[in-house]
Amino acid sequence: MLKDKVAVVTGGTRGIGFSVVKKYLQNGAKVVLFGSRQETVDAALAQLAGENPAWEVTGMCPKLTDAGEVEKAILAVKEKYGRIDILVNNAGISQSTPLCDYTAEEFDKIIDLNVKALFYAILPTVRIMKEQGGGCIINTSSMVAISGQQSGVGYPTSKFAVNGITISLARELGRDHIRVNAVAPGVTRTDMVAALPADTVQRISAQIPLGRPGEPEEVADAFVFLASDMASYVTGEVLSVDGATRI
Ligand code: NAD
Repeated sequence: MLKDKVAVVTGGTRGIGFSVVKKYLQNGAKVVLFGSRQETVDAALAQLAGENPAWEVTGMCPKLTDAGEVEKAILAVKEKYGRIDILVNNAGISQSTPLCDYTAEEFDKIIDLNVKALFYAILPTVRIMKEQGGGCIINTSSMVAISGQQSGVGYPTSKFAVNGITISLARELGRDHIRVNAVAPGVTRTDMVAALPADTVQRISAQIPLGRPGEPEEVADAFVFLASDMASYVTGEVLSVDGATRI
């Protein structure tokens, strides 16, 4: 579905991002994954090479909250492959701090990575996509951008902003043949969820109409669809992959 497309995936070393990288490779894309540390990038690349040495995948670790570093990394991808067809902005952190325990620094930290870093990656990539005649951007939102969150206001705030960036840029960039969409996962069994005690997972699962958390691979399938030509008329969409969870 993605034969010979060139994709950049941020937060591609584990969890949902790693599954996206793997599915993109399985579907014929060439992938550059961005991670936060060289060791985790190397470990992810080693795991992928172990699964299929023919996959064309490399990795980098620009500081995503530094506009200059991100631009340099994006330009390096363009230099290597001559184009960028798909940008997946997936790296993100969450917070559950009660309002009165927040510090300004903690709030800034989540906005810097979950919101501003998207802008930093999108800007140089869109310049490349405009020049080449099109492309596609997929951002990782969350179900909390529908329901809000009981504690940790920074996280839903950041994901509402992700939806705002997505829907607005879809309108601005449509004429340039650049589609912009988001995937909004529900509770997904990444490291974070896997580390929870079994009874906690059971309690959360009881509130999910499908009766269980999602698997990263199930979320990654939505990223494949949205990046593929099957979604050629889909833009400005926030696609929920959450088992209809509303908690
Ligand atoms: P994860 O913690 O397993 O992965 C997060 C990724 O982001 C990692 O690859 C990590 O290296 C990267 N990252 C974190 N901080 C970074 C930094 N400062 N600089 C660069 N990279 C950094 O989490 P995940 O569950 O796979 O989350 C991926 C995305 O999905 C996030 O945007 C998250 O908000 C969103 N999401 C997750 C869930 C869930 O239940 N797991 C639900 C809704 C949305």
